[in-house]
Amino acid sequence: MDLKKLEVETIFSDRIEKLVEATGLDAPPGSKKKGFLNVEGFSPEVDVPLFLIRGKNPGPIVVIVAGIHGGEHNSIEAARRVGSDLDPDEVSGAVAIVPVANRPAFHARTHNGSPPDGQNMGRLFPGDSEGTALERAAYEISSRLIVYADTVMDLHGADGLEMIIPHLYIPEHNENNEEKRNWGPWDLAEAYGIEISGYTGPRVGGGSAVHYGASLGIPSILAEAGSGFLEEEGIGIHYRGMMNVLRRIGVLEGLPLIERQIRNVKYEKIRSPMTGFFYSFAEVGQFVNKGQVIGKITDYFGDETTEIIAPVSGEIDFIKLTMATNKDNGLFAIVVDI
Ligand SMILES: [Zn+2]
Repeated sequence: MDLKKLEVETIFSDRIEKLVEATGLDAPPGSKKKGFLNVEGFSPEVDVPLFLIRGKNPGPIVVIVAGIHGGEHNSIEAARRVGSDLDPDEVSGAVAIVPVANRPAFHARTHNGSPPDGQNMGRLFPGDSEGTALERAAYEISSRLIVYADTVMDLHGADGLEMIIPHLYIPEHNENNEEKRNWGPWDLAEAYGIEISGYTGPRVGGGSAVHYGASLGIPSILAEAGSGFLEEEGIGIHYRGMMNVLRRIGVLEGLPLIERQIRNVKYEKIRSPMTGFFYSFAEVGQFVNKGQVIGKITDYFGDETTEIIAPVSGEIDFIKLTMATNKDNGLFAIVVDI
């Protein structure tokens, strides 16, 4: 037997044993289990639902987290479908899928901030075992799933108060990890098949699941697709993306069905200069020129007006839909090819 292959398989199988033990799910090789990660002090309302699909043969561990933002329904549904559809007999390695990480926000049907503490769970990873409900939930996902991962996929989309075109983020990765895998985050992005993909800088303070994965040197991506309402197009982008990544890294047999040429972009975010009424003059997907007036903010009387001017030329990939705006809310994001 090929000694190198044996060594790699031993590394994978040892880690799968640790992952299974950490989840508390009794999952022998070739099984699928469903359960919850218990969030101490906030159980059962905040407990994190989990599919664990353990293949018969060793292979990489993939962690998929959706619903960190509770209103991003298409990514939640896509993750749920992949969890339901994956057959452990066809899997090499293990796939851990959290369909909805932030149940308090999901059930409160809220888009901005999560009950009970008004926090954005996408800024709380790796979490805190003695913190708020959501900090603890983030900690359970980080310490029981992500630390064992060979790949992390963090799934998002528009919520009901936003409009986007599909795009994908690759945060800065820690290059100092000793473990070398046969794929990096760009390979995952190509397999996911979202054309607009770009690096984002390091995050100061807490981040999302993707930032924690990247900080450990684990190839990690964050994919944004779909509206805040269930529709097959957005669900399909995520579903095909996840399945293609699983093929790309050998968890599933076969080659990715589409491996798309992706554009390397940077993202320019435009934030609200003041609190008041927001009016957009642009659409998602529209190309705007530097200096173009793309929106305005007024006070409650329509008197004091601040124009929102495009700081760069590029394609709009995000627009906030609500009239209400608070100082520093994100209003637009513009994609710039680099
Ligand atoms: Zn999100």
